[in-house]
Amino acid sequence: MNSIIRIAVQKSGRLSEDSLSLIKECGIKFYNGTGKLKSASTNFPIEFLFLRDDDIPGYVSDGVADLGIVGENELVEKDKDVTVLKKLGFSKCRLSLAIPKGEEYEGISYFDGKSIATSYPKILGDYLKSQNISAEIHEISGSVEIAPSIGLAQGICDIVSSGSTLMMNGLKEVEEIFKSEAVLIGNKSLTEKKLAIVDKLLFRMNAVQKGKSNKYVLLNAPNASLDKIIALIPGMRSPTILPLAEEGWSSVHSVLSEDQFWENIEGLRAAGAEGILVVPIEKMVI
Ligand code: ATP
Ligand code: MG
Repeated sequence: MNSIIRIAVQKSGRLSEDSLSLIKECGIKFYNGTGKLKSASTNFPIEFLFLRDDDIPGYVSDGVADLGIVGENELVEKDKDVTVLKKLGFSKCRLSLAIPKGEEYEGISYFDGKSIATSYPKILGDYLKSQNISAEIHEISGSVEIAPSIGLAQGICDIVSSGSTLMMNGLKEVEEIFKSEAVLIGNKSLTEKKLAIVDKLLFRMNAVQKGKSNKYVLLNAPNASLDKIIALIPGMRSPTILPLAEEGWSSVHSVLSEDQFWENIEGLRAAGAEGILVVPIEKMVI
């Protein structure tokens, strides 16, 4: 029987859309109609399990799923033995400590002897230990922000992205304790056959990721300044130079990271480049 790998992704929530679009950008087709909990791809040996994100690390460490996409916050909190195969760059957020707005805060010792509500008792416990703070941790599974106003705890530790939820609940962020993004995780004892499929998937994900962080740049330049321009945008092997219909001018095509483009734009213009076009790249294989 041919091998097939199983990947666990979040059914719905802040990870699911980006997880599924990454898989689609890898050219993997599948059907994910509403309410479906399992689905197989029609053109790649992979099957999907749609789960709550809390369950993903456990399913992968148990081997029910071979791979999973989950936030580092959930992964570290669940403390399961899996391999992190790749950081995925989406669902970026942070775990922070917050206290009522009116309170004075002069440092982490504020929390000594206080009570903190959180859905992340392990991450918080490890952090407090590393800071030599002894505080009481109240584990609750949701709506952590209301804990101080209802007298359940004096502070909270929760996911923050913009900070607006904290503000609405009269809280202020005082310490960032953990940074998180989505990661691809894998079971530790995959068969050779499954590993070969995982390699194929990683190859595609890398190509998509590289494509996203790079741009295809086209510009026109007088032939006299080509050397200068090539030095600024050396590209993958070297840029493509094509003659323009107008004598003494060339078109230069190259690939560079978006950051590199902004760093070099003044240099390019000073060297006489004009008609500069920056085009997105869908996939990039080096
Ligand atoms: P589930 O029903 O699957 O248990 P959930 O309610 O626990 O979902 P979500 O709110 O969908 O979780 O968040 C999933 C993950 O997305 C979080 O664990 C975190 O890694 C990341 N995340 C959470 N909030 C944000 C945010 N505001 N911006 C970016 N990423 C976030
Ligand atoms: Mg969850």
